[in-house]
Amino acid sequence: MFVGHYAAAFALKGKVKDTSLGMLFIATQFVDILFFPFVVYGIEKMRFVEGFTAVNDFDMYFYPFTHGLLGSVVWAAIFYAIYYFAVAKGNVNRKAIALAMALGVLSHWFADLVVHTPDLPIINGEPKLGFGLWHSKEMTFAVEAIFLIAGLVYYLKNTTAVSKIGNYAASGFFGFMLLVNYLNLYVLPKNDDLNSLTISALASFFIFAGIAHWVEKKRV
Ligand SMILES: [Zn+2]
Repeated sequence: MFVGHYAAAFALKGKVKDTSLGMLFIATQFVDILFFPFVVYGIEKMRFVEGFTAVNDFDMYFYPFTHGLLGSVVWAAIFYAIYYFAVAKGNVNRKAIALAMALGVLSHWFADLVVHTPDLPIINGEPKLGFGLWHSKEMTFAVEAIFLIAGLVYYLKNTTAVSKIGNYAASGFFGFMLLVNYLNLYVLPKNDDLNSLTISALASFFIFAGIAHWVEKKRV
């Protein structure tokens, strides 16, 4: 899953106002931000298998540290601790902020569960889970869009625009994310080069987080 992960970021920002939407964008993609470099350095394993799913050629056969349920819980706990003891230390709401960041990290596994083939471990090895929506481009696009709409609507309901731009910034951003997903699924060729895939994935994660940071300044 790609842009659908940001549904959780929008929803959590709508729920806990003094979290950072930009950082929630990082949190919800955090295990993927680690995953690609981990594969580059051989810590986790992925091979490209032509036609593995309709959406991509990724056979992720060993990635317990980033995409095991236990691994995800550990990263979530680390985020919780960093926010609770450092970033949100002086904030009266620090418990809620830390929890929102942790849930953001953990949400990634459950969103991936919907689209991945059964490759997501609980700890490491079998059983591996995944509902396999990636076998259909249409279903993948539709479900990510539905997730995102649900998250965005909740966010818009719970925040107010501070300027005219604020009325449209979030919706415009939503349209942009859908467009990127569309291009990714239907227009751009599948990318089976690990290095360029890693660079483009990391670049898009940080660019999206940067835009989210800009959007949240337009709404309170
Ligand atoms: Zn993932």
